[in-house]
Amino acid sequence: MVARVFVIVIALVAGLAPAPAPQQAAPRDNLILITLDGVRAAEMFGGLDPVILRSTLAKDAKLEDSPAYKRFNAATPAERRARVMPFFWSELMAKQGSIAGNTSIGSAVTVTNTHRFSYPGYSEILTGQAHDDLIKSNDRIQNPYPTVLEGLKETLSLPVTSVAAFGSWEVFNEIAEHTPGNLTINAGYEEFATSDPAAREMSRMQFQTPTAWDSARHDAYTFYLAMSHLRNAHPRVLYLAFDETDDWAHGGRYDRVLDALSRTDGYLKELFTWLQSQPEYQRTHILITTDHGRGKTTDDWKSHGAKIEGAQETWIAFISPAMPQRGEWRNHPPLHTNQIAATIASWMGVDWTAGKPGVGKAIK
Ligand SMILES: [Zn+2]
Repeated sequence: MVARVFVIVIALVAGLAPAPAPQQAAPRDNLILITLDGVRAAEMFGGLDPVILRSTLAKDAKLEDSPAYKRFNAATPAERRARVMPFFWSELMAKQGSIAGNTSIGSAVTVTNTHRFSYPGYSEILTGQAHDDLIKSNDRIQNPYPTVLEGLKETLSLPVTSVAAFGSWEVFNEIAEHTPGNLTINAGYEEFATSDPAAREMSRMQFQTPTAWDSARHDAYTFYLAMSHLRNAHPRVLYLAFDETDDWAHGGRYDRVLDALSRTDGYLKELFTWLQSQPEYQRTHILITTDHGRGKTTDDWKSHGAKIEGAQETWIAFISPAMPQRGEWRNHPPLHTNQIAATIASWMGVDWTAGKPGVGKAIK
């Protein structure tokens, strides 16, 4: 998203005056928030964990023979993570943005809610504050507090199609907005009404391809329906909420967790490539994070919750023209999930902390 800046700098260095700009408005700011449910910092920063993969195999099976090991193993954590998410590391982090949460280099990110499961985590991301007393289940309860998505819509006077959330988990219908109908939301197994024939077909197919879980559809539908909305409605604010990493982990399928993360990397590549091809999206801010961590041992990596050590640890990736490109954050005061709402609002020129003393401050 900084390509235009580089072009101008190169022109100045070469002693060339930039061509006079045609009469047009300054490029608009756009925001894309992406969450990957329950992805541990261990996999984000280290890729395949051979000890955990080994623990999921039959006693007499050889680790070296497992397809996941053949596909994702490498000598170092940096090589292993790049096997799982090659685009994220070689393009987004190496050239565009930064990521915090690698505790091995003095970078910590944690949730401030004490529940350490999904609804409290997403609500903390979207409102900027934990409300442990009121938000304490994953039930389909309308969010008691307005979300930053709703705040952006109101402050920027955006139409309903311009602030959209696509989620694999059905509960995003309730988490993402305090006032029903405020935003465009498509989440869980839900028909997507559209004039785009390909998206209509995907909307139909989601019901023909059930997952093993009752309340979440495959992430592929979430992604491609969101891409259709992006191409056709040009939203200023888009929230993409993926789920599969968490559900495969609960099911003990570590190989499928890595598969899902790898597919997500492909989605990021497709999304970013498309954004770069669109003049309207040249100034797009992207934040990628997770709602909670998980346990650290071969016994509890599948789980998360108040009593699971490690489930409070998360990570945040920033790809924004408003932030320096700095690769991995090192040796800094801890960051918290309750700072995300103010951060993304500030990128859009909106102060989400005004009059809200409990909301975390924007990350610079
Ligand atoms: Zn979750």
